[in-house]
Amino acid sequence: MKHGLRVLLLVALGCTGALGQKPRPCSTCLDWYKAQTPFRIFGNTYYVGTRGLSSVLITSSKGHVLIDGGMKESAGLIARQIELLGFHVRDVKVIVNSHVHYDHAGGIADLQRRSGARVVASEWSAAVLKHGGVAKDDPQYGTLPPIAAVKSVSTFRNGEPLAVGDLTLTPHITAGHTPGGTSWTWRSCEGEVCHDMVFADSLNPISSPRFRFSANNQYPQAIADFEKSFAFLETVPCDYLITAHPELSGILVHWKLRLNGVKPDPMLDPGACRALAGSFREKLRQRLAEEGQP
Ligand SMILES: [Zn+2]
Repeated sequence: MKHGLRVLLLVALGCTGALGQKPRPCSTCLDWYKAQTPFRIFGNTYYVGTRGLSSVLITSSKGHVLIDGGMKESAGLIARQIELLGFHVRDVKVIVNSHVHYDHAGGIADLQRRSGARVVASEWSAAVLKHGGVAKDDPQYGTLPPIAAVKSVSTFRNGEPLAVGDLTLTPHITAGHTPGGTSWTWRSCEGEVCHDMVFADSLNPISSPRFRFSANNQYPQAIADFEKSFAFLETVPCDYLITAHPELSGILVHWKLRLNGVKPDPMLDPGACRALAGSFREKLRQRLAEEGQP
């Protein structure tokens, strides 16, 4: 991706206030509810999210995996996007998540009812999903709408692949934005050509007004977690990047370029994860400076 475009795309994000500010609406949040034509990203990987929140369907002959459920109001839309592609919601066998905020996990309870899928999450995220609401040690506790409780949730072990048919999907805890945030990796192929796919969680250091990343009792290891997560993004094999908020990878811009015949595939960018890590590092640096840290 061109440097200028990448910078522009990485500037967007963050719908709650920065340090000391009240939560404020963001300019892209209307897109969170808007329908987006579903499309194939590569191989068995499809974009089925809305215009402002990513959801990804990964298919296999023995059932599919869905990553992220969007807002609670979007569950029906995501289900329709899956059917529009010619797949069936009832064939979704596993639902996983980036992090348990209302904009990525709000629709999971409803999508589980529609599909009968197993919901699998990190231990921390699973506890939130089971009870609904917002966890007390979440940096944004007190400013976020609650999520609906999910009936049955199982947990994964960090780095241990989940299998659905011939598809294996690996969870990587990338905490910081929340203590249980997770990124996902898998391989997708078209004929002999295979690529490394990454669904990267948000690593945006935003919080409720009184929370300090540099000093708090709620989530004291937040900065260490961010550092581990940045290191993951800097080293993970990453041909296609999908971010929980699509504007961060520019996937919908790339989709339009692709429709216009741009070649090589604008979505294929092996430097994308590293660039994303750099932009999140910079956000954390700015945030710690605001908190008075050197
Ligand atoms: Zn979030």
